[in-house]
Amino acid sequence: MKSMIATTLLSLLMAGPLDAEDAPKAPLSAGAATSSITPDIGGDVVGGFLPFPCTHVHDDLYARCLVLDDGKTRLALVVCDLLGIHRSVSVEAKKRIEAQTGIPAANVMISATHTHSATSALGKYPRGYFSDIELDDYQQFLVRRIADGVRRAVNLLRPAEVAFGTVDIPEHVFCRRWFLKEGTMPPNPFGKIDKVKMNPGAGSPNLVEPAGPTDPTVSFLALREPGGRLISVFSAYSLHYVGGVGSGHISADYYGMYCEALKRLQEGGSADPPFVAMMANGTSGDINNINFRTPRPGKPPYEQMRYVAEDVASKVNGALAKATWQDKAVLGARYRELGISWRTIDGDLLEWANQTEAKTPPVEGKVDLPLAYAGRVQRLAKASPETKLPVQILRIGDACIGTTPCETFAETGLEFKKRSPLPKSFLVELAHGYYGYMPTPRHFELGGYETWPGTCNLEPQASVKVMDALLEMAEEVR
Ligand SMILES: [Zn+2]
Repeated sequence: MKSMIATTLLSLLMAGPLDAEDAPKAPLSAGAATSSITPDIGGDVVGGFLPFPCTHVHDDLYARCLVLDDGKTRLALVVCDLLGIHRSVSVEAKKRIEAQTGIPAANVMISATHTHSATSALGKYPRGYFSDIELDDYQQFLVRRIADGVRRAVNLLRPAEVAFGTVDIPEHVFCRRWFLKEGTMPPNPFGKIDKVKMNPGAGSPNLVEPAGPTDPTVSFLALREPGGRLISVFSAYSLHYVGGVGSGHISADYYGMYCEALKRLQEGGSADPPFVAMMANGTSGDINNINFRTPRPGKPPYEQMRYVAEDVASKVNGALAKATWQDKAVLGARYRELGISWRTIDGDLLEWANQTEAKTPPVEGKVDLPLAYAGRVQRLAKASPETKLPVQILRIGDACIGTTPCETFAETGLEFKKRSPLPKSFLVELAHGYYGYMPTPRHFELGGYETWPGTCNLEPQASVKVMDALLEMAEEVR
């Protein structure tokens, strides 16, 4: 209420040219909070081909929440330590947030980091291909925890300055799709030969060259109390995950360790209200942390993810010291659901799936790739024609964050950075849903794991349609 009166007063005072549609009505304010989303021990850990039971929590999982307010528009950004979130979780969380805080659903961005050592927020296993599902117990818990986190961030809103920055950290990101020497490509689960291989074997003599670029840039938005300490840093890096956890462990992977490391670097981690760091996933569908040309020796659990997390945190911290701060920023948001089609399964492929299933008896706990893909193909063939593919644009001053609900390729993120009408733009993947990998049409033609039906579940032109929609929406908020 207080801020509404302040806003009205300010807009009265600021009548005239400054009261243009676009001008912020008040100094920016920001608040941030973390909300625990750690599951019970005993639930399923996801990330591999088959889920397995969690026996230990190495580090807690969080929904990290940031709320921004320019006196006219309020935005909420939420990053969850999860492999992915089903669209229905995002829909329900946004409903609850809107009812409790008044922040319109279209202004709320909810994404997952892609930690592979989390519980599933994607629904029951094996999963079908649906845009709407009924929420299970963990998903309902998650909806409440996300909404509470946003509410807590609203409670902590205070005057703020904003800065945008980037820092290039090429040394932790590698393309994981490779061309191999003639005659060395193994057949895929469908009995066909792809043009590229995912994770071809580090140091393999058969490597020719990677099939695509990496995006080495960490983009970040920082919020601080005027001239004072940090409130939050929202960052995005295009790294799939690091991995290397203990067996049966829950962990937020390098994303969580980065947040802790940046907090320590900033203030020893003891300020009240606490500084909230966030690391969203950029566009890393074809990127991982394995240097295939010059492999590193194996490390004990958590060592590599800690190494990456602390290195990225210290480089972002260095870039923060050089940031230029502003006390006003126009906020804006656009949200759309695209009727992109699920992938078409032709008669031959379905026949292959039916025959493979008929002749392969399942063995408990054993992964048989052709059998696993046969099941996925059969379920994909039953999907209703259109998805409700969520895409979103948030504008914060001259910065712009676009989102996709897919494991998106690095070249898509690079294209958005180049073509966006706003100068400081980047993409966040795995937002508002999980629709599998989204290769560009060029990568789709090359084949490989990320393009197989059951891994890649959308029509081949999906990335082009998503890009067109994002650029249109960015133009609208400019
Ligand atoms: Zn993945």
